[in-house]
Amino acid sequence: MLSCVYFQNKNRFQAVSRSGVPGPKDTLLRCIQGHSGQIAGQIKSRLAHTQILRAEQCPTLAHYTKTELLPKIIGYNMPGLLPGGRTADEPSQEGRRSHVHMSKQLVSATGVIPEKFRRRDVDCCIRLDSKKLLDDGCELSLSDADVVLADVDLPLPYIELVQLLKWPQLTMYCRPKDTDMAVREDQSVDCSQCGEIHELDTWVCLRCWEPMTIAAIHDREGFLPKTERKA
Ligand SMILES: [Zn+2]
Repeated sequence: MLSCVYFQNKNRFQAVSRSGVPGPKDTLLRCIQGHSGQIAGQIKSRLAHTQILRAEQCPTLAHYTKTELLPKIIGYNMPGLLPGGRTADEPSQEGRRSHVHMSKQLVSATGVIPEKFRRRDVDCCIRLDSKKLLDDGCELSLSDADVVLADVDLPLPYIELVQLLKWPQLTMYCRPKDTDMAVREDQSVDCSQCGEIHELDTWVCLRCWEPMTIAAIHDREGFLPKTERKA
């Protein structure tokens, strides 16, 4: 078993020895994170991981996901990010991981996704507001695999930015400043192309991909060759 811990290359397991001589009744092994179901229910995050107390410990907080899941995360009246990658139409947590997993790193300039988040089909980054989360009493912890964990729902007010990772790196959602929020009357926006209702600060329709804000039009036009830009 110790060789498993030693040779795994993704920082999945840890071993600790009381005496320094590994053996029965001396050595403990654990999976660092990613527990699910009943085992997850027995684990106390604040004991299993390092508590994050200040936003400076994780000024960048990014969850990596698939674009196809966005309508269930930031769509109109949707609940945001839920522990274990659960979506709004899957009420049961059974068998699911117990946390939202977040990276302290962004994708590099050359498009390399931080290690541990390189799952198949990951094409989208959701940036979260660590200061607001901590100010509002949300418990964040840092696993020994350098992953930030939250065991509560993270609704839209905590989501700062949603952006595609690959070309054309469109911004899908951008949270406005508090001062802008105060002067608004509408709570939603309809796509002029397909009629789908969205949260007000959604830049691009999650159903038909039509830009819905002036900024989104500029964002998209910037990536098109001059000949293909609208007059
Ligand atoms: Zn649309």
